Amino acid sequence: MKVGFIGLGNMGLPMAEGLVAAGFEVAGFDVAPISSDVVRLADTAREAVAGAEAVILMLNRGDIVADVLSDILPAMIAGAHVIDCSTIDVASARANEASCKAHHIPYLDAPVSGGVAAAAAGSLTFMVGGTKEALDFAMPLLEVMGQKIVHCGDSGAGQAAKICNNMILGITMIGTCEAFALADKLGLSRQKMYDVVSGASGQSWSMTSYCPAKGVGPQTPADNDYKPGFSADLMLKDLRLAQSASDDAGMTTQMGALATELYRRFVEEGQGSGKDFSAMLEDMTS
Ligand code: NAD
Repeated sequence: MKVGFIGLGNMGLPMAEGLVAAGFEVAGFDVAPISSDVVRLADTAREAVAGAEAVILMLNRGDIVADVLSDILPAMIAGAHVIDCSTIDVASARANEASCKAHHIPYLDAPVSGGVAAAAAGSLTFMVGGTKEALDFAMPLLEVMGQKIVHCGDSGAGQAAKICNNMILGITMIGTCEAFALADKLGLSRQKMYDVVSGASGQSWSMTSYCPAKGVGPQTPADNDYKPGFSADLMLKDLRLAQSASDDAGMTTQMGALATELYRRFVEEGQGSGKDFSAMLEDMTS
């Protein structure tokens, strides 16, 4: 299968390289200068998608995805599919599906969970929205890049799953950091708190798989000076997407709103930008 890959950043490049290693013919494009010995680089997005049966997008934001689609859709061949792995808002994903449909091109929203290491190892989790037929078509590609592929429902359902997951993650990380900060003040060692909580009802992925305290639990960004990992900036982006989705749905997600405000302060007014999202602990204890 010929594949066009647009957006060869931290995530996109290792994903595209994995596809080449698995035998797919990939042409990639990025607006930024990229070097790769593995992926054939095209001069334009239209050139990358010419003749491709599948086009994968791994871009930063919804408005960029919409711009790229309006550029490439007229250049795509009949029967080609778009697989959008970018994390964007639910409403944009649904609008993208409609613009693709106008060109008779099936569109899947297929955001991922797992960072750069999972992208390089082909062990991402894909949350997919769109038709079963389109997913069947995309499956051989998704199975190379990911370990777990969940069909979440119609168009937009993949993005909905992603932002619900990351809203929980942002909230539990803040709670975990607050508990460590409180333990410090109460004279309880961080290791002892981990020993208890990791096997008790306060346990979460933030505690046991991504512990924000240095030297406690498994190796995490806390043990590497809070280099991301998953940056606080990207967490803020995802929390904002969750807030805009809950606004659109006419509901209030109070914990999500508070987590968004705390990450906004950390990134825009504090020291959080460019650091891992678990560095919130350092901020609370400095
Ligand atoms: P990134 O900024 O490293 O990569 C995005 C790439 O898109 C950049 O190289 C940029 O130059 C390129 N780009 C921007 N506009 C373009 C255009 N018009 N045409 C072609 N290329 C263009 O970001 P990333 O970390 O690779 O993340 C990509 C997406 O994956 C984001 O939506 C992010 O939220 C999501 N995500 C990231 C992670 C992570 O850990 N980094 C984890 C899960 C999901």
